[in-house]
Amino acid sequence: MEHYEALAEYMKIHGVPFREDVTGADCTTFRTGGRIALFAEPKDADAACRLLSYADKNGVPYYLIGNGSNLLIPDEGLDKLFIKLSGELCSFRMDGDILKCGAGASMAAAAKYSVSCGFMGLEWAAGIPGTVGGAVAMNAGAYGGEIKQVLSSITYYSDGCLKHIEADPDALGYRRSDYSYPDMTVLEAEFKLLPDDGGAKERMEDYSARRRDKQPLNYPSAGSTFKRPEGHFAGALIEGAGLKGTSVGGACVSRKHAGFVVNTGGATTRDILELIDIVRNTVYEKYGVMLEPEVKILH
Ligand SMILES: Cc1cc2nc3c(=O)[nH]c(=O)nc-3n(C[C@H](O)[C@H](O)[C@H](O)COP(=O)(O)OP(=O)(O)OC[C@H]3O[C@@H](n4cnc5c(N)ncnc54)[C@H](O)[C@@H]3O)c2cc1C
Repeated sequence: MEHYEALAEYMKIHGVPFREDVTGADCTTFRTGGRIALFAEPKDADAACRLLSYADKNGVPYYLIGNGSNLLIPDEGLDKLFIKLSGELCSFRMDGDILKCGAGASMAAAAKYSVSCGFMGLEWAAGIPGTVGGAVAMNAGAYGGEIKQVLSSITYYSDGCLKHIEADPDALGYRRSDYSYPDMTVLEAEFKLLPDDGGAKERMEDYSARRRDKQPLNYPSAGSTFKRPEGHFAGALIEGAGLKGTSVGGACVSRKHAGFVVNTGGATTRDILELIDIVRNTVYEKYGVMLEPEVKILH
């Protein structure tokens, strides 16, 4: 706790906004989890680098959070500094055929903007409720598209320095990327897009309609709870195992889409984790397939 007092003092002096009353329920789309020790929102790359450097030098444990749309935070909370990029780091603009984004920007808003500017390549991302940094870190994807196909460069903080590199597609795989906390903090990302072939807006609207139709978007969740196992679909296995509607406390396997565990009201992280275990064990017993959570479970 001692280092948080010094850190709070440091942030006051350097004008970094922070709060001490943020819970996992406030900062994740699952809406569960206890109190975070400190929640800081640096407004530009300079402030973010200085804060990260301070934390590294002083042994302050920290976590980089985007929109918390793929995270589960323990009910007991976490004795960590959470860093969420804000201000300038949430902006985006087109520069020729390159979409330049701060890593705190909304991935969906940046994708929609690129389409409105006459480009294609990110239509699939218009329904992803995370940040650009979170999308790069997860190699987010949908409807045949993924970040890997369009990411051209990143600017990141690592080991006290700000660095810029061309993106290497081999560094990104199915829902994983080397461009991720804890190895690096992505501060900016650039995407190389193509001129619209005339169908980008329609495709984007079609994908959004499919999401509304198939996904339980009216309940808090982290999207697909499990990764797609090779040769199968997690949702189909879960449905086939008769698990639709199975619940623990306020956590429930969605009746609309079995691949989603949802918070139907008052769920705790413990409820969700217990339900995840039930789903994994039941699917394994029936199909011999062990599902791997896609949602990141923090400790
Ligand atoms: C309704 C719903 C639908 C979804 N649909 C999809 C989908 O179609 N496809 C898909 O892929 N995902 C989907 N998701 C999951 C989620 O939105 C994505 O994984 C998203 O990319 C996570 O972004 P985030 O900003 O919320 O990251 P967070 O959940 O906050 O963090 C995820 C990981 O990224 C790391 N991270 C975040 N920012 C940075 C940064 N700047 N630098 C380094 N590391 C960072 C975090 O440390 C963490 O490890 C869905 C989620 C919901 C709730």
